[in-house]
Amino acid sequence: MTPAQKWQLMVVSHSHWDREWYLPFEAFRARLVGMLDRLLHLLETNPDYKHFMLDGQSIILEDYLEIRPDRRQDIARQVEAGRLLAGPWYVLADEFLVGGEALIRNLQIGIAIARQFGPPMMVGYLPDMFGQIVHMPSILAGFGISAAVIWRGVDRSIPTSEFFWRAPDGSEVLAIHLPQGYGLGRALPRERELLMKRLHNIRQVLEPWASTSYLLVMNGDDHLEAQPELPAVIALANENLEDAVLVHTTLPAFIEAVGQEMGARSHSWPCVEGEFRSGQRALILSGVTSTRMWIKQRNQQCEDLLLHWAEPFSAWANLLRRRSEGADRAASDAGFLSTAWRLLLQNQAHDSICGCSIDEVHDEMAVRFRRCQRLAEAVSGHALRYIADLAAPEGKTQVVVFNPLNGPRSGFCTARLPCQDGRQPLALEDEDGRRVPLQPLRHSPPSPGVIQERVQVGFLPGEVPAYGYKTFGVVYGKPTRPGRPRPAQAIENDYFRVEANTLDGTISLTDKALGVTIDGLNRFLDGGDCGDEYNYCPPTHDELIANPRHPSRIRLVEDGLARSTLEIALDYSLPQGLTADGQGRSRRRRTCRIVSRASIYAGVPRLDFETEVDNPVENHRLRVHFPTGLRSQFAHAEQHFGVLARPLAVPEDDGTWAEAPIGTHPHKSFVDVNDGQRGLLLANRGLPEYEAIDGSQGVTIALTLLRCVSWLARPRLPNRREVAGPPLAVPGAQCLGRHVFHYSLIPHSGGWESAFVQAHRFAHPLRSVTTTAGKGQLAPRASLLSIGSSALVLSALRAAANGQGIIVRLYNIASQPTSGEVRLEQPHGDVEVVNLNEEPLGPAEVDERRVHLSLKRNEIITLRFRTSR
Ligand SMILES: [Zn+2]
Repeated sequence: MTPAQKWQLMVVSHSHWDREWYLPFEAFRARLVGMLDRLLHLLETNPDYKHFMLDGQSIILEDYLEIRPDRRQDIARQVEAGRLLAGPWYVLADEFLVGGEALIRNLQIGIAIARQFGPPMMVGYLPDMFGQIVHMPSILAGFGISAAVIWRGVDRSIPTSEFFWRAPDGSEVLAIHLPQGYGLGRALPRERELLMKRLHNIRQVLEPWASTSYLLVMNGDDHLEAQPELPAVIALANENLEDAVLVHTTLPAFIEAVGQEMGARSHSWPCVEGEFRSGQRALILSGVTSTRMWIKQRNQQCEDLLLHWAEPFSAWANLLRRRSEGADRAASDAGFLSTAWRLLLQNQAHDSICGCSIDEVHDEMAVRFRRCQRLAEAVSGHALRYIADLAAPEGKTQVVVFNPLNGPRSGFCTARLPCQDGRQPLALEDEDGRRVPLQPLRHSPPSPGVIQERVQVGFLPGEVPAYGYKTFGVVYGKPTRPGRPRPAQAIENDYFRVEANTLDGTISLTDKALGVTIDGLNRFLDGGDCGDEYNYCPPTHDELIANPRHPSRIRLVEDGLARSTLEIALDYSLPQGLTADGQGRSRRRRTCRIVSRASIYAGVPRLDFETEVDNPVENHRLRVHFPTGLRSQFAHAEQHFGVLARPLAVPEDDGTWAEAPIGTHPHKSFVDVNDGQRGLLLANRGLPEYEAIDGSQGVTIALTLLRCVSWLARPRLPNRREVAGPPLAVPGAQCLGRHVFHYSLIPHSGGWESAFVQAHRFAHPLRSVTTTAGKGQLAPRASLLSIGSSALVLSALRAAANGQGIIVRLYNIASQPTSGEVRLEQPHGDVEVVNLNEEPLGPAEVDERRVHLSLKRNEIITLRFRTSR
């Protein structure tokens, strides 16, 4: 800034609207309606009150208009005039705990709602997110958004408030960092001296970080209303300031001004690549990745159901329906799907999915999850049955196996099959006459006089086409009497020998190809937690319990041609809670039953676990440990559109950090530790928190199963130096009762690249539909889409939003550029590349119906295949 220039204090009025948090949704909405009534009145009656931003989330408008439907035009008038700023998000989600595709839908829906009223605010406003993900610049740039406003997670190594933030694929946005959050300029006083003092303090915070003469003064805070007197306050300030001027403005105008002043000099801004998860300057509330774990599990189930089943298979069924019934009669599932997505996205707001609200909020979330799941199940169930009936030959009982991933692939699949004239299903037979044996599951021996009508079977169907299906006939016969499972502590297939330790219940896994045995796997470790919904905090005198009270009970519960399962039952004696002073764990004990089932399958290089915990105790953290025996400085954790190598070392806290650093981190479906020669990959379903712990015997991966606390926020924690929220009791956060967890081990040679496909297969198993209503109108096996490279991962496959075609979104998960071909295996017309908002960018490179793709590392591409109407 030259001496002649004045500081420009750009005042942006807003309200940070946590939709549900320490009050339930309807209680906050009652306040929201009053706030917006008064805000509209202010905008209509005082032209000097220029602008107000609706927190970057369009759901505020939906929530308001449901109560005040008559104010639609009044809102539109203010949005159109640029005085009320709406969008671009639907809700302010947590970035780490939701999927990449969920963040894309969040923006799509948020922008679409805002557009009903006027031009949306196209700024990546991320004011309160508990850290920033590495791929956010790719997502924003994919919508044509060129700037982000962020707070939490940025450390002191970035010297200015303004910098370029780059994603692994090279996408860049201008990042505006809020040095002290979104409330610095809240409630500006109208009294002259107080005002001048506040402005002095604000400038002391902002000026040292500013790289231009513009300072962003956020005039608002949590659930605060607009200040009607603000125009007078600004006038008063401007009469009294000599070296600065206050301007009532908007975020887009601030970003524009900053960009213009830097102009050609903007190349001198730092360019930073990566995620921001540092607690050095602001709280990142790192414990939320394990608070109320059931929420994370349900969210993952719903995302998987929508993205891998409901959307792709309803798009396919709809194509077929249009062909056979005509466009007029073929009803689309778009309405069901968009309702399901909205329910899910409402649960993804940061205070909701993080589990850091009062119990009533999370009770309401459970209902939204259930409704989302029912909608998605109804759509996918209907679609799968429609396709199955068209594909299955006429007459006999048929099993149609569906694959929701690239392929062809096999995997364990189950079906419930009818018996026939006292004969039992023995095998499945494909159209080439190849037979697949059936393994009876949960077999109840026939008792005299009782006719068993249906049996549950497991099988490995062989290669099922990519995003496709394969049909089988059922072969019936007289069952051989099932032998009683032999007593055993070990199971074995071509890949592994898996043995349970009779003393502590841990697993020894021998990988036959690698010639390696790893001991001590699947050890449960329980410690105290005197933290709260936001942060894990071990008590001063913690007591770690790493062994069951008795030698474990081990049973071979299945030993068939498809699946073999060892069941390990453990009784842990756990402290009932904390001591009265909260400094240690109580002496009173309760028995915690943990039952873990370890399964291997013919032809699948994976060891799957299903673990049931009946939690009877409070204020503790339960994790499961996997010592890898490997040396490494990094763990490779799957993120939204790629894999991030995070260092194991925990940064040093010099006592000035807002939140002490911790070794736990978020991941998506897997984390991997490898030494370049070989590695161990741990996959999970909806368990987003891991820690890779460096020890004398190598790296141990810890996966959090439960973190149980009693307070929304404690006023003081030794590892947190700021207040995180109100001190309310939240008994539901103790997570008492029964929980079931799914995770899987994949030993491998080389790096994670050679094993992650198995993690995705674990996350997305095959499904079957049994039908006797076959019409035989389709081929006995078929595919909707095929992708020529395993590094190109599907993000979305669904009917286009404009109803004209199929959307296929892919990303390159690899850390280097990848080329490959993509083919929609159904009749289609032109193929165009579109952006993340499905707006056309240009024609795709197509050769003989194959689309050629060359993607940078972690690059996302969206194709629209035109299909005839
Ligand atoms: Zn918030």
